This record gives sequence, C-alpha cells and structure tokens, in this order.
Amino acid sequence: MRYAETGFNLEIDLTRRSIERVVTDPTDTELYLGGLGTNARILWDRVPPEVEAFSPDNLLIFAAGLLCGTPAPGCNRTIVSTISPQTKLMAFSMMGGFWAPELKYAGYDKVIFRGKSSELVYLWINNGKVEIRDASHLKGKGAIETEKLIRQELNEPKAQVAAIGLAGENRVYFASIEQGRSSASRGGIGAVMGDKGLKAIAVRGTGDINIAQPDEFLELCNEVLEYIKVREQNPIPGVMPILAGLGSPQEMKIHDEKWHTESFMWGNSRHRRKDFWTEEIEKEWTETMENARTRLISCYNCPMKCGATISMPGLPTYMMKCFSKLTYTMAAMSNLDFGLKIAQRATEYGVDAYSTPQVMAFALELYENGILTESDMPGLPSANEDRFYWLLDRIVRREGIGDILANGTYWAAKEIGKGAEEYAHNNIKKHEQLPLKLSMLNPIYFLMYCTGEKINITQIEGQFPQMPFPTMEEREEFVKDWLQVPDEKFKQYFLDWELRGEKSMPNYPTVEMCCNIVDWQEMMHYIDDALGMCSGLSSFPLKPPYHIHNFPKFISSGAGIDMDEAKLTQAARRYRTLVRAVNIRRGMRRKDEKPPEDHWKKRFPELEKDLLDAYYKFKGWNNEGIPTKESLHELGLDYVSEDLQQRGILTDIER
Ligand code: SF4
Repeated sequence: MRYAETGFNLEIDLTRRSIERVVTDPTDTELYLGGLGTNARILWDRVPPEVEAFSPDNLLIFAAGLLCGTPAPGCNRTIVSTISPQTKLMAFSMMGGFWAPELKYAGYDKVIFRGKSSELVYLWINNGKVEIRDASHLKGKGAIETEKLIRQELNEPKAQVAAIGLAGENRVYFASIEQGRSSASRGGIGAVMGDKGLKAIAVRGTGDINIAQPDEFLELCNEVLEYIKVREQNPIPGVMPILAGLGSPQEMKIHDEKWHTESFMWGNSRHRRKDFWTEEIEKEWTETMENARTRLISCYNCPMKCGATISMPGLPTYMMKCFSKLTYTMAAMSNLDFGLKIAQRATEYGVDAYSTPQVMAFALELYENGILTESDMPGLPSANEDRFYWLLDRIVRREGIGDILANGTYWAAKEIGKGAEEYAHNNIKKHEQLPLKLSMLNPIYFLMYCTGEKINITQIEGQFPQMPFPTMEEREEFVKDWLQVPDEKFKQYFLDWELRGEKSMPNYPTVEMCCNIVDWQEMMHYIDDALGMCSGLSSFPLKPPYHIHNFPKFISSGAGIDMDEAKLTQAARRYRTLVRAVNIRRGMRRKDEKPPEDHWKKRFPELEKDLLDAYYKFKGWNNEGIPTKESLHELGLDYVSEDLQQRGILTDIER
C-alpha cells in the first residue's frame, strides 16, 4: 500500500491526445520525496538541454506535494515545473488554493503534459475518468472567468480549475496560471501551458489518502494547530508587521505599509519615497482596503486567511494575496485604489504581478528617455494610470510594442537596443525581481540572490532575522524559544550580531556563518516544495510551526517512510543539487549568479567573491558552481555526474 501519495501519475500527450495512468516507483519517493523533488528527476531524465521551452518535447508538470491531501494544516501546494521561456532554466512555481489536494483525492500525484494540441483544449479529471475536451469557446476568456465557465459546463461546482488567461494563450513570458485563490506565476509557466494549447485543468476527486500511522500523524497536526494559536497571540516584537506573525505575508489584513512604501523602490525600481507614509495616506489607503476587501480567505485546510476577495466598484470580484497589493501601485507611482483596480484586469489576463508592473514601468522610462518614441507607441494616453492599462492590454495581446515587452525586460531591452539594457536593471538570471535598493550589502541576502534557483527572493529567505536586534536583551528574548534551529550555533550567530561595529554587516555574520544560514533557509524551502507545504507556515516566517525537527515525523507517520533529520537533510540536498544540475546542463554558470547591479549602494567585491567561493565549496560545487563528481556520488547522483562528464561539462580539472 502507498501512503500519503497515490502512487499514480497521469501522462497526457497533447499531440496524440493520449491519456495514461502510470504507476510510480516508490524508491523515487524515498530519494526525492515528491513535488519538486520528483519533478526535478523527471525533467532531468526526460527533457535534455537541447529542448526549448516552446518545444513539444518540453514537459509541463503539475505535482501535488507528498503530504498534500493529508490532514497536515496548510499542506496544499501545487508545484508546477517546466523549462522557462524567459530564463531558459528550470521553472518551479508554486500555487496554494485547493487544486493539489483535489488531484490527490482524484487518485493522482502528478499530471505530466507533453506535446502540443493544435486546438485549444482543457483537461477534465473526474476521479478515474479523464478526458481532453474542446476549449475553443474559451479562447480569449479571462482565467477566473474560465474557471467559472468550466464549472458551469461540467455542472460540477466543486471542480478545482487551474487556468490561463489571454497572456498564457499568447505566450507572454511572464504569464501565470491562476487558480481561484492562488496562482503559479514565476518563470513564465503560463506561457508554456498556452504553447501546449492547454487552457485549463479541471479536477474533481472524492477518494481518500492512506496515512501510515494515523494517530501519530493527527497528534502532530494538532500540535501544529496549537502552536499556530500560540504564535498568533505572541507576535515577534522588533520586526516589521508582516514578519511578526505567521502565514504568507498578511498583506490583506495589514494596513501599515510604511516599510514597503518607504523602503522599496517606485517606478522602474528607481525612486525611493522616504517620507511617503503620512497619517493622511494611511487613512486613505486603510479606507480603500476596508471598502475593497469583502472577505478574508484561506487555502485548503489552513486557518491563516492570508488572501482576500477584492470587489472594486464596477468590476468583478477577484482574489488577491500578498505583495501584489502594492506592485502595480508602486510601479505606476499611484495610489492603492489604482493598484487594486488594475490587478483585477491583470488577474483575468493571467500575468505575474511582480514582473508585469515592472515591465510596464520599464517601457515608460524608455519612453520618457526617448529610447521608445511616439512611433513605437502610437496612441499612448497622456494620463499616467491610463498608460499602464494601455500597455497591459497590448502586452497580453502581443500587439505592437507589446509584442516586444511580452518577453520581459531582459529580452525586450536586447531587442530595442539604443541603450535600453541600462534600464533592464532589476533582473536576476533574466527575471524581474522585487524593486529593492538598499544601503549596506547584506552578505546573507547576497548569497541567496546569487545562488537561488527559484530566482525569487521571497521563496528563499526566512528562518533567520533579516537584521540584528539593537540590544542584547532583545536578542536573548528572541533565542529563548527558538526551537526551529537545526543547530544551537545559529542562536550564538544571532546573539553576537550587532547593528554597528566589528560584528555588523557586511563582515558579520562571517563568511562561514553566512554559508550555514543560507543553506538552512534554502533547505527549508526545498523541503516545503517537495512536501507541498505552504512556506507561510514553514520556510518563510520566523519561528514557524513546521521545522526540521518535526518534518521527519510527519513524513514517517504520514508517508510510511523511515525518516530522520539526517535523511531528510540528505534528500533535500539531493534534489536541490538535481535542480542545479538541470540548470548547469542548460548553461548556467558563475557569471549568472549575481544580484541586480545596484541593489546595494555599498558593495564589497572581495568579500562577495569570498562568499561565493566559500558557498560553492560548502555545497560541494566547483568554482563555476557545478556540483563535483564527489558530491554527486555522495548524494547517489552518479548518473548526473556521468552525463555531465559525457557532455564535457565536468572535466578532469573541474571534477
Ligand atoms: S498560510 Fe496563507 S497562503 Fe499559506 S496555506 Fe495558509 S492561507 Fe494559504
């Protein structure tokens, strides 16, 4: 009997229109867990580096994490993996909501798409009955609208539907996949779905999941729920509001936006507005949010209510969560009312709320600086906000200049030329980032930005405070109940961390400490992404309910795999290294591992080199960031090392 997982994947060939139910190998679950881990294994085995994002041979994998569908609170993530058209590397975007547990209840762990359909279609998974259906009548429809129409058409109000909008259909490089209360947005995975001619996947499942030791498992779940209550009553003092509690940053509940609006950049990640957050603005934005927010909502089996339904006058209701509340507002240098309105249209189009506003602000900066002109943008409105709507409409339709901008700032700048590359300044590995510019280099963040392969800082950070606390009393208070640390040494790192002087940034935490901290933070995210756990209850916040000490127990009692901390650490290292190997085979090297040029004012080239050298060594990678033969062997990845040697990527010298 299989526990926690179903033991079956669906293999869909969209060219041949074939549907297969395939038994999976339980050994793979032991080695790579599930979700991202087994996705990485499949992409490694079946998508060689010559295959491009828009090739029929590229795979698009929708995976429910290993513990999705079990009673583990907040375990509901769908991990979508493919090759990104924008970065040309592996994309692995996650979405919360309800889709992954529903897939498990229908009897499958993953849906793997290959090929391309010449006509627009959608997949309907109704427990054991699976069919590819015509979607020509849904062409051009919004993502949320599609969800409603499919439910009506199937007469199945409980079907969970993941869909793309116009942006995905038109292969916009930053197109998302939307799913009611959530979306998988980063890396252009919606464009790959559109390229395959797949408008949506609807799923309805009424089966059960087996739990290996139900009593032990439920006890662990109750402990988590109890801990969530305790943490809610005891927010962490001395940190910004969104980091004081649990959950995916609770932007829908919190009205205090002083930190974001004054620390993050506005426009094309250029302008800091140091005294922006006045009493007047706070009052206006609070009123806007209170009027717009009709209901706070949660994902499947979670008490946190991180998202909200938003109803702006004259517009259909839509769901929002997290920082997309501010991205359009800040890119347009406008107000919250504008941000909430344009986000409704953008959600229907199905675009990433981080990249899209930056692409539009980039275009307008090029226009203001004469690089793009009237002839490039005929009919551009004169009012600022109207310009954003105008650009959004053209990007998702790939009309005129929108066709170039639809490839993101990196590729658009290359095509536009005339110095446009200087303006595409906020990318890592060709992908738009949060608009941050800070003063002093933070060595921990430097390493995360450089080496993170999610290419999205919020999905790498967490666990360790972002800044030192001013007094020793505050630090001692913080470490007192810090049970999540994998090793006591992390407490000492934090106790000794000062705001100024010898033990302050950039030289403290030391290079060695930074390696340990980044490795811990990254490992927790990778574990979440294999189990299907929401990072809002695990890898992202400080002192979360899930951690390295209780995850092995969840896996043992849930999935029936004999697991301990050492084995879990090794498994996470294994598939994390496999993700890197996929990308190394696609050409990623040390030269690609850098933060946006002007992310920090004060840079330290020598220290940065030392950090990267030391971290590569710490991870078992050579000086180019390529996993060494020895480290691959230690992780049971000899097949990777053989492939890299055959391709001349690992040579005798580099091994
Ligand atoms: S913590 Fe928030 S984002 Fe995460 S599962 Fe719960 S409601 Fe969803």
